[in-house]
Amino acid sequence: MSTKNRVFKSVFPGKYIQGEGVMGELPEIMKSFGEKKMILSSRSVKKNILMEHLDTFKSDGILVEEFGGECTEKEIDRLRNLVLINRIDVLAGTGGGKVIDTAKIVADMTNIPVIIVPTIASTDAPVSGCGVIYSETGVFKSVYYLKMNPQVVIVDVRVIANAPVRFLVSGMGDALSTWFEARSCERTQSMNACDGYSTQAGLSLAKLCYDTLLTYGSMAKMACENKLITPALHRIVEANTLLSGIGFESSGLATAHAVHNGLSALPETHDYFHGEKVAFGVLTGLHLTDASPAEMETVYKFCEEVGLPTTLKELGVVNLNTENLMKVAVKACEPQESIHHEAGEITPEKVLFAMMAADKMGNYRKYHG
Ligand SMILES: [Zn+2]
Repeated sequence: MSTKNRVFKSVFPGKYIQGEGVMGELPEIMKSFGEKKMILSSRSVKKNILMEHLDTFKSDGILVEEFGGECTEKEIDRLRNLVLINRIDVLAGTGGGKVIDTAKIVADMTNIPVIIVPTIASTDAPVSGCGVIYSETGVFKSVYYLKMNPQVVIVDVRVIANAPVRFLVSGMGDALSTWFEARSCERTQSMNACDGYSTQAGLSLAKLCYDTLLTYGSMAKMACENKLITPALHRIVEANTLLSGIGFESSGLATAHAVHNGLSALPETHDYFHGEKVAFGVLTGLHLTDASPAEMETVYKFCEEVGLPTTLKELGVVNLNTENLMKVAVKACEPQESIHHEAGEITPEKVLFAMMAADKMGNYRKYHG
């Protein structure tokens, strides 16, 4: 195929800082962007994590604003007005995915730089250039695309090590999808998540992400369970956040995230984390794309070792009849879904069989393995 009309694209955060105690550097970094500074934080993060820094923030003239709880149009409007009235020069968002997305969108709308300080390593949202907007009742509404990715991402590994381990493991599930989805997009020459074709940079970071998970995933989990900051934990935090973030945006999505979206058709899966559902989507993708038995063995074993779901039951799905699961498969195959980045024609029936095969193999390994 000719590459004449293909446009290759990659997106990156401006700066990525990861270390122990780097949260303390936030005021200094904010200062370099301007005089008037605001931090958006959830109530629990403010109380439990920012506490020791609040006096410094105050003396540095930083406004600390509490997040309303959901990334909705109403909340975005409220914060946008606050930024404009106070003539804020730079906004930081600290917390989980929703606070991060809200800070990114508000800063983009008001044309000011944004600094992202995730307090958990559960998704690759901190470095990405998009945010998800929900309705007042918490239902997915739309994806907002930013002009630029965040200017600075600050990841304090001490904070991550003290967060519940389930977040880190879920982040590994999200990161696990990166290489497989990138590989599918490369095979079929499908567009990535920033409206271009995969660069070599995107693809090789996606591969490095996968290799890092396989080598250091279990060790990092053990470290986090015991609140220990180790080189393995550092590597996995980087894989979950930076490598996975650049990897998915610059190399594209495929089956895993489409199955994740499909699972939202079943209310019983709603309490499970993004990365947990994505991990099951990875397993489905292996069956759908005829992955080698050796590769299946590697991926199932990894999921079992770190504690990612390998069966539908572990995602709350107990009704395994065809009709129920078909709802997931149909949703995963909607025309706009990234599952169509896979080779060949993808139909709900094929996806249904792949999901059931993924689940059966997960069960078989658990009880007969
Ligand atoms: Zn994801």
